[in-house]
Amino acid sequence: MQIEQILLQPSCADDVDTESLRVHEARQHIRDAITPICDYEKLPLRNALGRILMDDIISPINVPAHTNSAMDGIALSCKDLPASGSHTLRLIGTAYAGVPFKGECQTGECVRIMTGAPMPRGTDTVVMQEHMQIIDDHNVRIGSTHRAGQNVRQAGEDIHKAAEVIQAGRCITPADLAVLASLGIAEITVRRRPRVAFFSTGDELRSIGESLGEGEIFDSNRYSLYGMLTHLGVEIIDMGVVRDEPNALREAFRRATTLADVVITSGGVSVGEADYIKPILDELGNIDFWKIAMKPGRPLTFGKLGNALFFGLPGNPVAVMVTFYQFVQPAIHYLSSGQFRQPLTIKATCTSPLHNRPGRFEFQRGILHQTAEGEFEVMRSGKQGSGILTSMSHANCFILLAEDQAPVLAGDTVIVQPFDNYLS
Ligand code: AMP
Ligand code: MG
Repeated sequence: MQIEQILLQPSCADDVDTESLRVHEARQHIRDAITPICDYEKLPLRNALGRILMDDIISPINVPAHTNSAMDGIALSCKDLPASGSHTLRLIGTAYAGVPFKGECQTGECVRIMTGAPMPRGTDTVVMQEHMQIIDDHNVRIGSTHRAGQNVRQAGEDIHKAAEVIQAGRCITPADLAVLASLGIAEITVRRRPRVAFFSTGDELRSIGESLGEGEIFDSNRYSLYGMLTHLGVEIIDMGVVRDEPNALREAFRRATTLADVVITSGGVSVGEADYIKPILDELGNIDFWKIAMKPGRPLTFGKLGNALFFGLPGNPVAVMVTFYQFVQPAIHYLSSGQFRQPLTIKATCTSPLHNRPGRFEFQRGILHQTAEGEFEVMRSGKQGSGILTSMSHANCFILLAEDQAPVLAGDTVIVQPFDNYLS
């Protein structure tokens, strides 16, 4: 090969070229290709934690169901509150949470009341016990500093009957479980979880438990994928390592598309290797090979294999994680919920210079921490080479360096994306 030809071979180390897709464009193409899952199942309330609500929840009742006391004290009518000086009231009974007072309060009378007890008929105000003086078993005295209606929770104050309480598409949180329980709802309808199949490609890969021959390495990508997918709460189908052999690959792709909504592979999409996998993918589906203006993770393959979405991630262990977080995770969120979730980003002061080059969107691995004064600071988590998995393991965030980001100096403000954090 002539030297000019060698130089003309495209490489992952090249700066951005005109054919490269920008990160947000790739995300948009992926989004356009997805139809959210509409299958659903009914689950007992507790099992719905972390699942996606199928239909809006309409409240069948008022919460609280009855007007009740927010304090321990006495319930009385606001007409009995003295404008000045003090006033003595006659105690005619007690109202407990769960055991209401059955009678009615007349002028000059009051009822001892516990927090959560329904307000007795004829009362609308509660004076807390610390603000009253007990004269004897039948009489209490109150002063003039009270307000009509104080310390009372109105029926329906939290949730009105027939109100929309939780919207379809929401990922059920612990607080949602409590709200649903407060409505007496025992079962809810949620969307089916996506099934995600993945396998690694590469003749050099061995699985844990096997021994390593010369030039062989352990497959680590199936473990990062397992971890990231488990956090997303999807059904996982681990198909192991598939050799760089057309029949084995064809068979693995075929099987994956019959099993899963999403198929993820790692390896085999970089320049040179792609020649190998491309004819098989073209035969089975509609696939694009992208070069993305990002670092790491430049080559990415995306499309449809039958009805399944397909992500061909680079083989490089760090690139797998970066492309998963930036492309696969938002896609799986949208597929499972029909909602786009905006990853949380925050501003932080970078405590060391970064060796970034403009032209590509860089995702550097960082360690974010909060100072005693509450300020966010971030530093690189170690060497940023795309094969350095330990700096990914030490990191808790990506430092986002956009294409036009000037070289970062110590003390500059940068944008940081903590792992696994979402707004909304
Ligand atoms: P490829 O994209 O297949 O050319 O792989 C790029 C680099 O990532 C090579 O050094 C591979 O050996 C490595 N690699 C590919 N797949 C894996 C894997 N599953 N686990 C660890 N390293 C891998
Ligand atoms: Mg390979």
